[in-house]
Amino acid sequence: MKHLLTALAAMVALTTAALAHPPETPGAEARYLANEAILVTAGETKILFDPLFSTSFGYPLVAPDVRAQIMAGEAPFDGVDVVFVSHVHGDHFDAAVMNQYLAAQPDVTLIAPHRALLDMQGAAGWDIALDARIEIMPFVAEPQALSLPANGRADAIRIEAVHIPHAGGPGRAGIQNMAYRVTLNNTATVMHLGDATPDTAIYSTHRAHFEARRTDTAFPPYWVLLRHGSNATGALLNADAAIGIHVPINVPTDLERSGEDFLSVPGEIRVIELGEHAHD
Ligand SMILES: [Zn+2]
Ligand SMILES: [Zn+2]
Repeated sequence: MKHLLTALAAMVALTTAALAHPPETPGAEARYLANEAILVTAGETKILFDPLFSTSFGYPLVAPDVRAQIMAGEAPFDGVDVVFVSHVHGDHFDAAVMNQYLAAQPDVTLIAPHRALLDMQGAAGWDIALDARIEIMPFVAEPQALSLPANGRADAIRIEAVHIPHAGGPGRAGIQNMAYRVTLNNTATVMHLGDATPDTAIYSTHRAHFEARRTDTAFPPYWVLLRHGSNATGALLNADAAIGIHVPINVPTDLERSGEDFLSVPGEIRVIELGEHAHD
């Protein structure tokens, strides 16, 4: 009995030590929710991309029970630090639901293009008090950057964003579609591009922006990946890995045959492989 107690005491001591010294660079992972909705977690830092939308357009919706967990801040959506909106199309964003979410989760910051704010101001549930927790990306050509604190770290969430035109040609040039590059806890860098065009010219224009920081995993819409393949897409975005999202409910045959990596199964989790490149 004494031996057992000693062993138990040792286990408790070990556990306490492990809790007191969390790993300096914990791994990062991405959880796929639906369409372009992704939860990215690195240690205690959690961000959501395009999680609250209500229109399908042939793409999967976030399951009702998952939506309920997000709204209630239940695991794994507890402690979300920042929510990103790429653009205001109905398969990415629901203004009234976003109002409701921000009201229910007072520690969450929203980062979104200006048009999203206008939509929220005109939607049910708008409260001027929400303004203080919304960081607006103005509709400008130049890249934009900001850092947000989270979990006691001043620069836990480093955001570098650039407007990349929406796919579909010049007729959609007015859509404020943001491509976000986000570095969590100075370790993992991910990129979410909304419905970015596959046309390469605009990426060349923003070469300096993409070169400024290596991305561990980019999540382009699958049509970018299908047009260019993973190697060229990685080169275009300066990313180690590219995983396609915005995959229709009926997965296109050419995507299935392409051998490219993509997310289409809600709940699927991917480890973000951290590259050798230095994170400053
Ligand atoms: Zn769109
Ligand atoms: Zn879309």
